[in-house]
Amino acid sequence: MFEKLRQAFTAVAKAARERKISGRELDELLSEFEISLIESDVAQQVAEELIQEVKKKLSGASIERSDDPALFVKESIRGVLEEVFAKAGSVDLFRRIEEKKSSGEPFVILFLGINGSGKTTTVAKLASILKERGISVVSAAGDTHRPGAIEQLTEHAERLGMKVVSQRYGADAAAVGRDGYLYAKAHHVEVLLIDTAGRMQTNQNLMEEMAKIVRVVTPDFKVFVADSLTGNDAVSQAELFSKYTGFDGVILTKADADAKGGAGLSIVYSTQKPILFLGMGQGYKDLKPFDRQSFIDSLLEN
Ligand code: GDP
Repeated sequence: MFEKLRQAFTAVAKAARERKISGRELDELLSEFEISLIESDVAQQVAEELIQEVKKKLSGASIERSDDPALFVKESIRGVLEEVFAKAGSVDLFRRIEEKKSSGEPFVILFLGINGSGKTTTVAKLASILKERGISVVSAAGDTHRPGAIEQLTEHAERLGMKVVSQRYGADAAAVGRDGYLYAKAHHVEVLLIDTAGRMQTNQNLMEEMAKIVRVVTPDFKVFVADSLTGNDAVSQAELFSKYTGFDGVILTKADADAKGGAGLSIVYSTQKPILFLGMGQGYKDLKPFDRQSFIDSLLEN
């Protein structure tokens, strides 16, 4: 997982150790680092900006005075990464759910993302985690466009012993979400998970439909589901959803199959929203909390 991104960081740290770093050498080292970031699916603009920030930290005089320039380079990179993740902040979803309990209203989570990113599967995975924690959960089949989407969610729900609120295909997704909310409230269900449609992100109608669901349902949490295998596309989709609907956090799916690893870093950098979970497979147990410190440490361990 994320081998290529890890190699990019390992290579710059190694090169910094082996070469005598001064002015031109440093520029060369950082431009190689920039290329390897891009090769690891970090969006070009993000890679450029990250390098500029590393350069600022390494500003000439201080690196030459440093006892250990290689360590200085590595720690400067660590500093930049820590700032990127700190700007995105962090969210304790389970605490937020707990806090909503006393209001007697369900905590509503809206899943956003394009077709195939893993939304429906992730709804099921999160439902499974919530149930395991003793939190009651219901889902709403808000993808009323993709053939089979309602049945797919219903199948998962049957396996998990979860109710699905649904209407027919072509129904107004905002109305489905609203029905889900009314059901959850009437039955004192603590969490409502709303699946949504995800026709191509360039589709203006989709963005308008999502914006409408957000207005009607006023979710407590909007999660953008990003397929890490789609690299730069995932970043532009994140930016688009961020513009039209906003979102509060990211779930990065298919991390188990992603040998590159740059998509998540780019999304966090460009939207300033935290990653909550990594999708690590197709099973219900394959949703793992994302720990930013271990992620940074794993990139810089060598
Ligand atoms: P949706 O169109 O966004 O609802 O996407 P689906 O939930 O239907 O997922 C699309 C495909 O991706 C399915 O075959 C899922 O089993 C698969 N998938 C979802 N999440 C993961 C993951 O974390 N890892 C892997 N390897 N596959 C996943």
